[in-house]
Amino acid sequence: MSEGTMRLRFAPSPTGPFHIGGARSALFNWLLARKNGGKLVLRIEDTDLERSSRESEENIKNALKWLGIDWNEGIDVGGEYGPYRQTERLSIYAEYTDRLLASGKAYRCYCTDEELEAERQKLMAEGAMPRYMGKCRNLSAADEKALQAEGRKSTVRFRVPENQAITFQDAVRGTVSFDSNGIGDYVIVKSDGIPVYNYAVVLDDALMKITHVIRAEEHLSNTPRQILLYQALDLPLPTFGHISLILGKDRSKMSKRHGATSVEQYKALGYLPEALVNFLALLGWSPVGEQEIFSREELIELFSLDHVAKNPAVFDIDKLNWINSHYMKQLDVATLTEMALPHLKEAGLVGENLSEERLAWVSQVVAAVRDYVSFAAQIPEHAAVFFQDEVMMENAETAEILRDPDVPKVMDEFLHKLSGAEAVTGEQVQAALKAVGKELKLGGKKVFMPVRVALTGKMHGPELIALIPLLGVARTTARIRRSMELVKSSNA
Ligand code: GLU
Repeated sequence: MSEGTMRLRFAPSPTGPFHIGGARSALFNWLLARKNGGKLVLRIEDTDLERSSRESEENIKNALKWLGIDWNEGIDVGGEYGPYRQTERLSIYAEYTDRLLASGKAYRCYCTDEELEAERQKLMAEGAMPRYMGKCRNLSAADEKALQAEGRKSTVRFRVPENQAITFQDAVRGTVSFDSNGIGDYVIVKSDGIPVYNYAVVLDDALMKITHVIRAEEHLSNTPRQILLYQALDLPLPTFGHISLILGKDRSKMSKRHGATSVEQYKALGYLPEALVNFLALLGWSPVGEQEIFSREELIELFSLDHVAKNPAVFDIDKLNWINSHYMKQLDVATLTEMALPHLKEAGLVGENLSEERLAWVSQVVAAVRDYVSFAAQIPEHAAVFFQDEVMMENAETAEILRDPDVPKVMDEFLHKLSGAEAVTGEQVQAALKAVGKELKLGGKKVFMPVRVALTGKMHGPELIALIPLLGVARTTARIRRSMELVKSSNA
C-alpha cells in the first residue's frame, strides 16, 4: 500500500433484505474511494450467527453489482488483508482477546443472564442508567476456578477506563464527545467465543488498514466503545464519519410502512440502477447549486464529505420517480421492452415465447405508454388497454359520456371512415376524427372523448393516434360496437 492511500470499507451484516440505507453507505464509500484513488473493501460482518445467511450475503453482493458499486478487496475478490468474512477470522480475534486478558484490559465475567437482568432492573428502579456494575471486575484466579466449577460459562468484558472523555472529530458531525463513565464494562466476546460487533469491527478496520470509517448514524453511539478498544490495543484510529438517518416523508424513520425499502424491491419494480445511484447520492449529500441529475462520473468528481448533511435525509419517492423517468427516457424502445416484458407477463398480458411480430407490436405499445410511467412495473397498468378487448366503464361519468345523444352518430361516422382499411396510421386516425367533427359540427372533445371512452372505458390514457393504429381497425370497430351495445342495454 502506498503512503496516504485512502482505504474505505463497506461492512454489511447479511441479516436480511439489503436496505437502501445500506446501499447509500456503500455508495458514499465507493464515491470517496473512486474520487480519491482509494480502495474499497467489502467485508461481511456475520458474527450474528442466528440472523446471518449466505443468501442475504449473495443478495447484497448482487445488489451492489447491479448498482455498479465494485470493490477492490473483500469477499470474492480477495486481497492482502483477508479473510473478509468475520466468521472466518475467529482465530485472529482470539489472539487479541488473549492479549487483552493477559494485560488485564479485559476480564472474564461469569454472571448469568438472570443475574444481569436483575442488576438492570435494580438500576432502572433506582433511576440509574442500566449498565454492568463490575461484579467480576476483580476476580482472583481462585474465584474464577470456583465459578467455573459451578459450571458457569464466561464472557469477556472490556474494562472501561473511568473518568475519560472520549472525543473525536467526526467527518460529518464535527466534534463529538462521550463520557466513559456512562459506559459499563461491555462484553466483547460472548460465551460461545464469538466476538461482538463492536470488537470485531475494531480489529478488522485496524488490521485491514482502513483509514476512513463512513457509516450510518446509528453507529455513532458505538464509536466511543470502539475508540476505547483502539486505545487499549494501541491501534491507530481511523477517521469516522456518520451519515444521517433516512426518514420517510412523514419524518419518522424509514420503514416498510413507507413502501419499498430494499434495493431488490426497487430493482423488481423496474427502477434503473443509474437512477437509484443518482437518488441515493442525494440522500444526505447536496452539491452546490440546483442540479439534480448526475452521471456516475459527475458524482465521483463532485462528491465530498463536506457537503454531507448532519440533519436527516428525507426519502422522497416522488423525487426518485422523477429521476427514474429521466433515465428511462434515455432508453431505446428495445431495452425498455426488455424491462417491460416480465411485468407484462406477470400481469397476464403477454405469454411466454412471443413471435417476432408480436414482440414488435408489444414494443410499439411500450413506446406509446412510456411517457406515462415512472418505472417499469407501471407499464402493464397503462398498457392494459392495448391488450384487453373487454372494455369496462371506469365510472358513472364515463358511461354518461357515451349516453350523449350525439354519440351514436359520432361512432357511426368514425367507423365508417375507418371501414375498408385493415390498418390505419396515426395521421389517418387524426384526419378521421377531425372530419367527423366537421361533418357533425361538433367540437374536438365531443368526438375524441366518446371514442376514447368506448375504446378504453377511461377518460385518460394513451393518445388515440397511438392506440387505434395498434389495435387495428377490426378490434377498434368491435370494441366501439360492444361499448355502444352495453350502454344501450343498460339504458333499457
Ligand atoms: N455490520 C454493521 C452494519 O451492517 C456495519 C457497521 C459499520 O459499518 O461499522 O450495520
